[in-house]
Amino acid sequence: MSKDTFDIIVVGGGPVGAAAALALSRQGFETALVERGSAPPAYDPAYYDLRVYALAAHSMRLLDSLDTWQDIAAARLSPYGGMRVWERGPEHALRFDCADLGRTELGWIVEHSLVVAALWARLGEVVRYERAVVESAIFDEHASLLRLAGGRELRARLVVAADGADSQLRGLACIDTVGWHYAQRAIVCHVDTQRAHRGIAWQRFLASGPLAFLPLADGRCSIVWSAEEAHAGELLALDDAAFAARLGEAAEHALGEVLRTTPRLSFSLRLLHAQDYARPGLVLVGDAAHTVHPLAGQGVNLGFADVQQLTSTLVEARDAGRDWSASRRLHSYARARKAANLEMLAVTDGLYRAFRLRLPGLKAALGLGLEAVDKLGPLKSWLARQATA
Ligand SMILES: Cc1cc2nc3c(=O)[nH]c(=O)nc-3n(C[C@H](O)[C@H](O)[C@H](O)COP(=O)(O)OP(=O)(O)OC[C@H]3O[C@@H](n4cnc5c(N)ncnc54)[C@H](O)[C@@H]3O)c2cc1C
Repeated sequence: MSKDTFDIIVVGGGPVGAAAALALSRQGFETALVERGSAPPAYDPAYYDLRVYALAAHSMRLLDSLDTWQDIAAARLSPYGGMRVWERGPEHALRFDCADLGRTELGWIVEHSLVVAALWARLGEVVRYERAVVESAIFDEHASLLRLAGGRELRARLVVAADGADSQLRGLACIDTVGWHYAQRAIVCHVDTQRAHRGIAWQRFLASGPLAFLPLADGRCSIVWSAEEAHAGELLALDDAAFAARLGEAAEHALGEVLRTTPRLSFSLRLLHAQDYARPGLVLVGDAAHTVHPLAGQGVNLGFADVQQLTSTLVEARDAGRDWSASRRLHSYARARKAANLEMLAVTDGLYRAFRLRLPGLKAALGLGLEAVDKLGPLKSWLARQATA
């Protein structure tokens, strides 16, 4: 095998791509990782990343199987044991507690930069191409080719596109997407609150968009506040004291006053779903295949589930002596993941609309808001399943 020829090339070294490259390499596939940026810097505990994920149990198990969970746990993570979700009055919140589900936690809040640094630090035998720009690609069953700027050619039996929501590879393969922009921005920052978060994730559904307070290891909360563009622009323009006051009011002071806030970042929000996750010689994983509203905190969790499914599909075929990179295997991966991803897209989009659109009769249909949801066993079980899967 010449130096630039591999079993599998993963394009995109974010959390999902790095996990895919590591998982596939650990299973004995000769793997390369192509990232257009630089390698992530080593994790610096003095810097608390403003981008955090709420990881579900299956994501923890994947990271554990890749020996990265121990590194993450040794650096910093924040387990949370409860969730409170409400529309009006935190005292009426829909409650989830890990004890009711027979678990010691519902999930973990982990920094994006820590997850990425921990995965990259374990890449070991994975050949890395950093600051690499893909200029063109040919996708073919068993024989795909990527041409990089500067003329280098990389060949592989399979290319995995993990290059995010604006996936260049998805475009090169002419895979259509469906979806829309929410005309909303998510504002994120870390805040000190008057009352302790007690290891609970708090989320209020406002008509203008959901607002989450996620518990951090140092006692602060990470905020994700989704609001319409104009409203978000107004919130971003406020000074820290005025923003903290608005935030406290918006959360109905569930944790008392907001005392201090870090600088704010913001992200525009959209829903996107690729019509195909597979073409001969190419599969999509992570945000390249599906991008969801962050209100359920599921984006990277879905991507990690893609990685688990793809790895097990390919390993099972190879170990049974079958052609692991044949299109039918790739379609079998796609079928398995599409159903779960579409369910999540539909539910998060449905929740977003249910609370944002003041449709006549909708509130009545929902009863008196989230108080009523507590009585809706099936929805509560669905939410609990997502939190603990
Ligand atoms: C405000 C907000 C809050 C969120 N909260 C949560 C949460 O609590 N829980 C959760 O599960 N998810 C959450 N998400 C979603 C989560 O951020 C994404 O689902 C996740 O980052 C997707 O990972 P990815 O690796 O697929 O893509 P990305 O993180 O976008 O990584 C893509 C990588 O590919 C590289 N790349 C891009 N194009 C190319 C190219 N052409 N060639 C080579 N490399 C390329 C990029 O440099 C990057 O390294 C949140 C999102 C937002 C906006």
